[in-house]
Amino acid sequence: EPTLTLSGITKTYNQGTPGEVRVLQGVDLTVNAGEVVALVAPSGAGKSTLLQIAGLLDTPDAGAVQMLGQDMTGKGDRTRTNVRRNDVGFIYQFHHLLPEFSALENITLPQLANGVSESVAVTRAMDLLGKVGVGDRAHHRPAALSGGEQQRVAFCRAMANEPRLLLADEPTGNLDPGTSDQVFGALMDLVSGTGLSALIATHNMELAARMDRVVRLEAGALVAASEEETTDG
Ligand code: ADP
Ligand code: ADP
Repeated sequence: EPTLTLSGITKTYNQGTPGEVRVLQGVDLTVNAGEVVALVAPSGAGKSTLLQIAGLLDTPDAGAVQMLGQDMTGKGDRTRTNVRRNDVGFIYQFHHLLPEFSALENITLPQLANGVSESVAVTRAMDLLGKVGVGDRAHHRPAALSGGEQQRVAFCRAMANEPRLLLADEPTGNLDPGTSDQVFGALMDLVSGTGLSALIATHNMELAARMDRVVRLEAGALVAASEEETTDG
């Protein structure tokens, strides 16, 4: 079964008021197990809205979200929060790490909150940090890390509870091009071979072309990407 299926998703903000914004108008998307999908969209097209709906942080006005075969329509907050905690990892443009905790603690805390023992949580966190090349930064606080290192740690935090779906909103958008390329490579190293599915929003067409498939959000709906977006160079 697919990891995520979106069917006929619509979303309008401030419906029926002068400030009405029709954002999504019938979005259909399937993300299969192990598939890494690039989501490209001009600014303001609704990609953050789409990611929040996919991640069960927001609900659509109409349409269905299916997560791992479970239809989330009409499910209460507790169920949605449970599914989100267990199955979804989030990455944002800015790291959102807790400033008063070390890199290591930022990755162990979500695990401890899910009932994982401290020793298992630390082992897993150190393994993740090593995979993205910042094992030697484990005891530093976020402020002592470079932007690229901060994002690598944020990737590890997103992976801490072994999600089935990773949702990323411009994960390298805050980095200079060279760093962005390396940090994206680190993200792909974390994802590849795990069977994890990912939906990654990016403006960077070179990065998009390195993913399994590219979809473009245009006028409120997803369209297949054009040829130059789907072929490298
Ligand atoms: P993107 O991530 O593609 O830049 P967003 O999903 O953040 O787009 O926003 C899509 C549109 O919806 C924009 O016009 C934005 O101003 C509007 N929007 C987003 N969130 C809200 C909200 N909470 N209330 C009203 N309008 C919003
Ligand atoms: P943007 O991509 O527009 O800069 P952010 O990356 O800060 O915005 O966050 C995107 C959205 O997700 C925001 O509406 C924010 O409230 C929400 N969000 C961020 N982190 C969390 C979280 N850990 N849990 C729930 N919602 C979150």
